Amino acid sequence: MALDRLAGENSMLFIRSEQLFDLARRHSFFYLSYGIACCAIEGLMSAGGPRFDYDRFGIFHRGSPRQADVLMIAGTVNRKMAPVVRRLYDQMAEPKWVIAMGACACTGGPFREYPNVVLGVDKIVPVDIWVPGCPPRPESMQYAFMQLQKKIASRTQERLDARAASR
Ligand code: SF4
Repeated sequence: MALDRLAGENSMLFIRSEQLFDLARRHSFFYLSYGIACCAIEGLMSAGGPRFDYDRFGIFHRGSPRQADVLMIAGTVNRKMAPVVRRLYDQMAEPKWVIAMGACACTGGPFREYPNVVLGVDKIVPVDIWVPGCPPRPESMQYAFMQLQKKIASRTQERLDARAASR
């Protein structure tokens, strides 16, 4: 018990080192883009271009789920694609986050009446950030990453608060 308080998961040493790792994580996102429709072209591709230049925020695109920590789903997901999205998510290492980009990924968008369309990617994977719009602007994506940074920062703070409250 005493050892757990010193070096266990709820020890100050562990939480503080997690805080340090989270600081690095939230300033170096490697996203895997699952771009399958117009959202990918309108919002996502311009994100990597010189006008918006996400690289300057430490946000980089990766081509493999094994090297990515953010799965960005942009476009209409149909039932046939759903297992593929899930497999990509499962191949990513923890900790990982998901951004649903655009009305189609969030709710099925303008195609929600078609029976083969998935009505929101949260039916397949846990979604952390929702970005509305048809299509969302690249600035919305920047804002989404800023919200994700806040979410990661609050994670260790919650644990510190819980630890303080349990004393
Ligand atoms: S939300 Fe609009 S822009 Fe994005 S994939 Fe759907 S129809 Fe295309």
